[in-house]
This record gives sequence, structure tokens and C-alpha cells, in this order.
Amino acid sequence: AEERLSKSEKLTVVGELAAGVAHEIRNPLTSIKGFVKLMQQGMVNENFFDIILDEFNRIEEIINEFLNLAKPQEIQLKKSDLKKILKDVETLLESEAHLQNVQIYQQVEQNIPPITCDPNLIKQVVINLIKNSIEAMPNGGSVNIQAIKEETNVLIKIIDNGVGINEARLQKLGEPFFSNKEKGTGLGLMLCFRIISQHKGTIIFQSKENQGTTVEVRLPLS
Ligand code: ADP
Ligand code: MG
Repeated sequence: AEERLSKSEKLTVVGELAAGVAHEIRNPLTSIKGFVKLMQQGMVNENFFDIILDEFNRIEEIINEFLNLAKPQEIQLKKSDLKKILKDVETLLESEAHLQNVQIYQQVEQNIPPITCDPNLIKQVVINLIKNSIEAMPNGGSVNIQAIKEETNVLIKIIDNGVGINEARLQKLGEPFFSNKEKGTGLGLMLCFRIISQHKGTIIFQSKENQGTTVEVRLPLS
């Protein structure tokens, strides 16, 4: 199964997103209100503080991701070393991967020329994709990151052997708040699509349920 996601309608307008944010924030707010009321009535349990803090963190996360999407990001193109970008990302995610029993492998071809991109934005994309891979392997596994030079593009491939994505869900990737995770925001891929589209690149997802997912990101060589 394969789905091409350069569709501009998936880069939804901020207004529509804002309605979604409001909706997403309502749940943790309701929960916080409930616990504060209980405490007001004299019911105090140590766990309440942890739950309330978790709910606040959830709200903070949703707002941070939303701001990332909503603020007009100036893209700052410069000649960048893809190998270094991927190495930096690996370093950032090392401890998280280790905690989840996930091994990250990198196979970067030696002949990849410098690419013109915004290295910080491309890092954000790769971080989001690898995080999704790690989260798709609750019992551990491996993520293989490849960089391959094609005729007019550089291809970055992220391959995991996680839970995979079924056909129906594959069509919905990139829609805001589409998440199957209890703690997910469903904003990560939307940001990825936007950044890659700003770079005139493409993202393709291929996936088989219970086998794994391969994401192909292509960035044009200038
Ligand atoms: P979030 O990670 O917050 O749920 P994303 O936009 O990053 O939001 O991803 C949206 C959904 O796409 C995820 O909840 C998950 O269901 C699915 N998904 C993305 N990448 C993968 C992957 N590598 N393996 C399995 N499912 C994935
Ligand atoms: Mg994610």
C-alpha cells in the first residue's frame, strides 16, 4: 500500500487547526477541573497532583506543536551536509531509542553531495519520522536510516519493523489530530509534510500491518 502525500489540501489552514486545538485541549482541561473540584471538597490524594501535572503537560505539548505549525517559518536555505544532519538526529534520539529497546542503524552513501535545505527543519522532519518508528515498536526493534543519491534527488529512507499502518489509516496520514496514540497529538506528520513541501520535495509512506513501515523523503538536488 502506498500513498503520495504532496496534496496541498492536507496543509490545512490555521483556522481549521485552531478549532482542532481547542477541541483537543478540552479533554485535559475537563479532567483538571474535575480533580481540582475533588480537592476542594477535601478529597486529596497524592496521585491527583501527578494526574493534574500530566494533563498540564499534555496541554503544553499540544500548544507547542500547534505553534510550530502556525508560526510562519522562514526557511533558511543553505548548503548542508546530510550525513551530519542524520548523525545529529541520531545523537538526539539515542537515549529514547535505547529506553525503548530500539536499535538505530545508518547507511549513508559516501557520494552524497551537499544539499540546499534548511538543516534545522530537515532535522525536525527526520526526528518526527524516527520518533514515530520508535513508537511503532513497543517491544523494541530496529530503525534503518538510509541516504541514497538519485539522479536529481537525495532519497532519505526510514525503515522500521513496527506495527505498520493499515490501508484506511494510510490515506489519512498528515491530517491534523489523526493519531492512534493515547499521548499522540497527530501533528507531527502534518509538520513534516509542510516542511518537505516547502523544500519542493516529496514524502511517500509504504506500510504493511504488523510488518513495518518505510518512509521515503526525496529532496531535490539543486
Ligand atoms: P502522533 O505521533 O502524535 O500520533 P503523527 O502525525 O506523527 O502523530 O502520526 C500520526 C499517526 O500515523 C500515528 O498516530 C500513527 O498511527 C501513524 N504512524 C506514523 N508513522 C508510523 C510508523 N512508522 N509506524 C506505524 N504508524 C505510524
Ligand atoms: Mg509523531
